[in-house]
Amino acid sequence: MKRFSAFFLLALSAVFSYGASPYGTYETLSRPEKDVFLFDKITDPNINEITYCIAQPEGKSGISDKNLDLHIKAAFKEWTYGMALRIKKEGRQEEFKDLIKILERKIEFKRIYNCDLSNNPKFVQYFPTHKHGQTADINFIEAPKYCQAIHGSSVTTAFFSMQPNVPPYICIAKNIIDVILYAEENRDIPTIITSEEKELVKQIPFLMQKIAYGKYTPREQDLIWKLNKSFFYDDDPTYFSIITHELGHAFALTDQYTSRGEDVLYSSSKTGQGLMMRGYESISCDEVDGIIAKFYKGKNKTFTRFCDENIKIKNGVEVTQKDTPVKLFVGKNSKHISILTPTSPENLTYKEERLIDNKPLNDEIRETLKTLNIDYSKTSPDTLITIYAKGLMKAGNLPSGTWQVNVNLEGKLTLVEVNYNEDGTINSVKQKPLSSDTMAKKIADFKNIDTSKIEKIIDETNPLFRQR
Ligand SMILES: [Zn+2]
Repeated sequence: MKRFSAFFLLALSAVFSYGASPYGTYETLSRPEKDVFLFDKITDPNINEITYCIAQPEGKSGISDKNLDLHIKAAFKEWTYGMALRIKKEGRQEEFKDLIKILERKIEFKRIYNCDLSNNPKFVQYFPTHKHGQTADINFIEAPKYCQAIHGSSVTTAFFSMQPNVPPYICIAKNIIDVILYAEENRDIPTIITSEEKELVKQIPFLMQKIAYGKYTPREQDLIWKLNKSFFYDDDPTYFSIITHELGHAFALTDQYTSRGEDVLYSSSKTGQGLMMRGYESISCDEVDGIIAKFYKGKNKTFTRFCDENIKIKNGVEVTQKDTPVKLFVGKNSKHISILTPTSPENLTYKEERLIDNKPLNDEIRETLKTLNIDYSKTSPDTLITIYAKGLMKAGNLPSGTWQVNVNLEGKLTLVEVNYNEDGTINSVKQKPLSSDTMAKKIADFKNIDTSKIEKIIDETNPLFRQR
């Protein structure tokens, strides 16, 4: 399987001024009632129509108008009808019948033309002729130069933005693979080799049409995602994957590159998976958990996670006591930080990652580094700081009691003990130098494994980071 690159992760991150976390809804301690508009719209029985507009101010993209519409409508359907299919597939339709009713409700996702983008940041400056059209509920701006300029990054693929006084929009900053076109033109795809696979690809136009406009089966849902994933061979997910991922943000979901998000309360203890974690995968149990968590928020209802039967979410917040090791990575320069979490105590591969770039360091992480006495601003470009930590997480992901943290800074090892107050703030920090053997033993103790596997963790993870 092709390893996803750091650039890919960055490319999919949403530009949000507030915190985010997995399973996962865009909510923070400071703004717990943050409305995310598409979710609110579909749950409002008075709303039967949601409008969108596609702006292509820099000229036509490689995708035909017809296919743009199909992809966008299909993405919307996946978050509603498709989400209900996922819940039913697990046999939990009775438990969530109230939500399924909402998800299966007929809402027209209708395109309007002549997008009014005069409230968008800098848009008028770039494209003065796009004033005074109709205002859609959500805009799709296909404009690589413009999107890269306002995102401040040339490696961005797409992002979702919702800011005060600006209609929500999805900015598409690259020309992305259109699977319908590839299938229609019978193009060669490096990852599709066998005649059976080639036959399946031919079904894409029909399948997309059916998903966009009709009812479809779990088998067809699985197939379209499988086919889209098979196009992921050049580090760029397909247009359908990108649009569905970004639209997921409009449905209240957040990127899931880490289990500990920017906000401690609305984080989950488990790793993310699926579409909001990796843009080329299908809607997974994580997204189902996220949508239900959002739906139950304020209703004081509890459910067991689809991703993990040991974890319950009550009123939008995890209630399970956690004791999850966390790995924090700081590298290259002060703006790059990833937080990794082991997939399980036995599993040594770290599948989660969050790359925070183009924005200030998260306060919580900054505070942690400060209390650990790590001057990350003076680190050389090749510096790797790895931190293994373990401590008790209380409900809502508040760190509790004493956390043991092992820091590896350019081969210099330090054991740090962080004592947390009841509210999750840091009370005191003690640290002392550590020999390599002792550190390996400490990590082995955390993870209930033998020491020989620990060297492997360090060896395995470093080459991944050096890719940056
Ligand atoms: Zn994203």
